This record gives sequence, C-alpha cells and structure tokens, in this order.
Amino acid sequence: MVRILISACLAGEPVRYNGADKRVEDEILARWRDEGRLVVVCPELAGGLGVPRPPSEIIGEGGGLAVLQGTAQVEDLHGRNVTPALVAGAHEALEMARRNNVGAAVLTDRSPSCGSTTIHDGTFGSGMKPGLMGVAAALLGSHGIAVFNEHSLAAADRFVRDLESK
Ligand code: SF4
Repeated sequence: MVRILISACLAGEPVRYNGADKRVEDEILARWRDEGRLVVVCPELAGGLGVPRPPSEIIGEGGGLAVLQGTAQVEDLHGRNVTPALVAGAHEALEMARRNNVGAAVLTDRSPSCGSTTIHDGTFGSGMKPGLMGVAAALLGSHGIAVFNEHSLAAADRFVRDLESK
C-alpha cells in the first residue's frame, strides 16, 4: 500500500506554533485514516521545537529550497535563527517517508516547513510569497515525493490510486 505523509496539524494534533490544530474534516482523509494509509509528522516538532513556540518565517529569497542550499534562513518572531531545527525536521520527515513506503505528502500550505504552493513573505505581516515551498515540502519534493496540501486532497487521492495501479 502506498502511504501518505500528512502534517500533524491537519490530522488534528495541536502542534501549531500557537498550540492549535488545523484539523481537516473530509471524507477522503477519513478513508485514508481507515485504510491505515496515514503517516503523521510535524516537521518542526521532529526538529526539536516545542509547543507553543514563536511563529517563524523564511527570510531571504528562494523559500525552503534556498534554506536547504544555505542561501536563506528561518527566523522566529524574535529574530532567533531556527534554521537547524527546520532542516533537521525536514530530514526526519523524509526518513519517515522512506521507512513507510510514502508516495505522496499532504502538508499544510503557507507554513515555513510544510507550505507547498505559498509561504509567508518573511515580514511577519500578512504578506505571502506564492510559488515557493517550505523546508520540509521542498526536501520531500526534491526526493520524488509528490507534495499536495489541504486544498488538493482529491488530486492527492487520484495520484496515490494511480501509483497503486501501476
Ligand atoms: Fe503543522 Fe507543519 Fe507547522 Fe507542524 S510544521 S504545525 S505539521 S504546518
């Protein structure tokens, strides 16, 4: 069975920076859960950060890929460099994916770790940078794992079914 890596906050775990979750109630997600398909991870906790924690954003150009390449960094609201934690968490998520036959990931968009189509712009305001990924999403994507988000569950479901039919 092809398994699906999912952001812990989407799965209902209260692991966001503010102690909240981002639970998604959806029949596709419920079916995946019943099938035993889900592999749950919070990359930021896996990297050693706690709950609650100050919010963090990627500073510099290029998003998560640039962080992995060492040309951008992640800072929290107080200016603390949390890059090592987010990079470590991304690698832990990748290891979990490899150990569990993961073919796709469904990650929380806009997060500096999990964002897949958009991330915050590094000013800790409301600005966004479309077209960029967070650190974990970028690492997973660059290792052949298709990354989806909470708005593309149906596409993720089709992708996984296609993988299994090959
Ligand atoms: Fe959710 Fe990902 Fe942020 Fe963890 S790192 S709280 S899983 S968005």
